[in-house]
Amino acid sequence: MIIVLLGAPGAGKGTLAGAIKDELAIHHISTGDLIRAEIKGGTAIGLEIKRYVESGGLVPDEVVTRMIEAKVKATASDKKGYMFDGFPRTSAQASDLDKVLAANGLSIDFALYMEASLEVVLQRLTGRRVCKKCGALFHLTNMPSRKEGICDVCGGELYQRTDDNKETIMKRMSVYNEQTRPIIDFYKGQGKLKTVNADTGADDVRKALLQILNGKKS
Ligand code: ADP
Ligand code: ZN
Repeated sequence: MIIVLLGAPGAGKGTLAGAIKDELAIHHISTGDLIRAEIKGGTAIGLEIKRYVESGGLVPDEVVTRMIEAKVKATASDKKGYMFDGFPRTSAQASDLDKVLAANGLSIDFALYMEASLEVVLQRLTGRRVCKKCGALFHLTNMPSRKEGICDVCGGELYQRTDDNKETIMKRMSVYNEQTRPIIDFYKGQGKLKTVNADTGADDVRKALLQILNGKKS
């Protein structure tokens, strides 16, 4: 099964993927996580792309597409399938993803559009906390960790992403509206778009995805 998660920053793509990837035994590929790992590791690519992420802009298409290509190549033979989170984010990336998959004999089953209101995503992004060690996601009020500032999963320290501040969030929203929103139509045109209401709780979204996978809803 190959699924693309679509939706604004804060729609809950990473939360959904984290909650369901083991259940579906599927690879969760988040370009945001791959990018942050490069930056944290201080690699040549990391140094080059840091400024885009910190300003709320997009990392150049070629850079992210190369990351995805490498991941897919390295894992295609295990036939586990993929949940792409945060990629594609531009029309060019959407057609690149089709090409990369086709080169490995694969294709997307559907794109899940997680539709959320601006009010909800802003509240989610400003309260989001992330584990430094394992990347698990929490929220100060919606999904608090049992012990303040400490990850429930691994005991690691929780932090606030540097791009989760009001100003950068607004920039990311306008980048989303201008560059990413149009790819909803790309998948609609391919007959592959499924939409879920993502204003609800994380577990409702998870159930909605499972229903789609069971063929109960189109
Ligand atoms: P969110 O969904 O909350 O915006 P992500 O972790 O997906 O967070 O992305 C964080 C940042 O990483 C983006 O603002 C952007 O700078 C960069 N990024 C992530 N994915 C891509 C992508 N596919 N193309 C370009 N830049 C990306
Ligand atoms: Zn952790």
